[in-house]
Amino acid sequence: MKKLSLTSKTLLALFLGAVFGIMLSHVPENWFTQTILLNGLLKLLGTGFLNAIKLIVVPLVFISIVYATASLDDLKKIGRIGGKTFFFYTLTTALAIILALLVGGLLKPGVGVDLALLQANELTTTPVATDVHFVDTLLNMIPTNIFTAFVEGNILGIIFFAILLGLSMTMVGEKAKPLIVLFESANEVLLKLVQIIMCFAPYGVFALLSTTFANFGFSALMPLIKYVVTVVIGLGLQLLVVYMGMLLFIGKLRPSLFLKKFAPIFNICLSTASSSAALPLALEHSETSFGVSKRVSSFTLPLGSTINMDGTAIMQGISVMFIAQIYGISLGFNDYIMVILSAVLASIGTAGVPGVGMVMLTMVLASVNLPLEGIALIMGVDRIIDMLRTAINVAGDNVCTILIAKSENELDEKVYNKQI
Ligand code: ASP
Repeated sequence: MKKLSLTSKTLLALFLGAVFGIMLSHVPENWFTQTILLNGLLKLLGTGFLNAIKLIVVPLVFISIVYATASLDDLKKIGRIGGKTFFFYTLTTALAIILALLVGGLLKPGVGVDLALLQANELTTTPVATDVHFVDTLLNMIPTNIFTAFVEGNILGIIFFAILLGLSMTMVGEKAKPLIVLFESANEVLLKLVQIIMCFAPYGVFALLSTTFANFGFSALMPLIKYVVTVVIGLGLQLLVVYMGMLLFIGKLRPSLFLKKFAPIFNICLSTASSSAALPLALEHSETSFGVSKRVSSFTLPLGSTINMDGTAIMQGISVMFIAQIYGISLGFNDYIMVILSAVLASIGTAGVPGVGMVMLTMVLASVNLPLEGIALIMGVDRIIDMLRTAINVAGDNVCTILIAKSENELDEKVYNKQI
């Protein structure tokens, strides 16, 4: 057991946690399972681990982006990397949503589904569309008070401030050197902190997974199995065709190595269902496993974990098709364009925390006048989908980061090609 690497231990914990959770869900509720296990030991381990990760996310995003922007010390380079980041993130999200509409149109998950069987999930209140205007999303990025942004965890606002600060440091040059060194050192210290917290990953992952599965309503799964399978196929295609294709054809890199090395990050995505929670580990592995220079990953990954949500876009595209099919509403060409545009915007506005993609789905449904009550039908299985789509969200950030690094000569291919 001692010889197992941390990754293998976490993977094992993931599996054992799921099995233990499913077993718990079949045991009638009693004092031991509820008070001692679910609300006691498992909660302490799972929520404790999650809290510790959340604790470092805000300082990590801030410090790594200031460090990255300041250390690129060439305004042209910052502009180029910024432009490439925007290009790759928008491109992959647009491809994701188009793929989802195609898969949803071909597999028709909503055709022949018995609506009566889904009534159990009826919502008590009708969801209200989150009418997030594009301008508001942009304005939200400019906080009026940086301390409020920190306290509220307004990541987009923190990123905006961090980029400005880093840029100013670059422009000041010599006199800003002590500050740059300070941020570089703080960045190193925070990454060490990540390693310490990750030592507890196997226990945290076991506890989080068993709690999720113990509370999961398996009875909700069967009538929706077609929907779940369609989303899983969409997510799988995004990973295996879009991302692996990009690595192979644009990056000239071996996709199989990416998949192997992504495993530890994948585990954390599954157990936390949060891109933000996976960020600390993704930052660490980007350098040590994929060979991306810190200067690039410290900029692109925190940004990606906030604005690039390809897995979420796939869930939203397939949900649109599913709900339209169930209610027998046909969508026209203009509707599809609206769905693509609103899902790309929703991806930017979706925070990297569990369940937000479902809330943002209201915006996508509203853009083509589909009934918002449709959300009630898929709510029961969202946690499972959330776990998987988060993994794709984070895989997308990593693939784009590797490609950007390669195009900037900031990728150490010896590290990428090293077998594990
Ligand atoms: N849980 C997702 C993430 O953190 C966001 C979503 O709900 O789709 O990436």
